[in-house]
Amino acid sequence: MATIPRSLLIGGFRYAVEHGDGLIETEGEHWRTRGRLVLDFGAKTSPDRRREVLVHEILHAIRTNGGHDEKTQPSTDEYKAHMREVENFICSLQWGIVNVLRSNPELVAYLTGED
Ligand SMILES: [Zn+2]
Repeated sequence: MATIPRSLLIGGFRYAVEHGDGLIETEGEHWRTRGRLVLDFGAKTSPDRRREVLVHEILHAIRTNGGHDEKTQPSTDEYKAHMREVENFICSLQWGIVNVLRSNPELVAYLTGED
């Protein structure tokens, strides 16, 4: 069984990958603060869903590291609508990224290889 890394380097920032108490019996509840990715999987969370949630949080971290800080704006209706769009966009990518990487080990080797 593959193991989730305990830390990740994302855009030059080191993130500790931590796990919640697993009491939430949904597919996964998760959140992100700078320096920490916290995953909170229930017992029924499938391995594929765990990968998807991890990628989801990595995408949030990439976005934040790119200067799109979240939760620093006033919580106006407009900002909430914007963040729903961001969330929907990230959700639309997460499984596709996991699927492409898992389906193409040669691609992963190329992307991570030495030049
Ligand atoms: Zn999210």
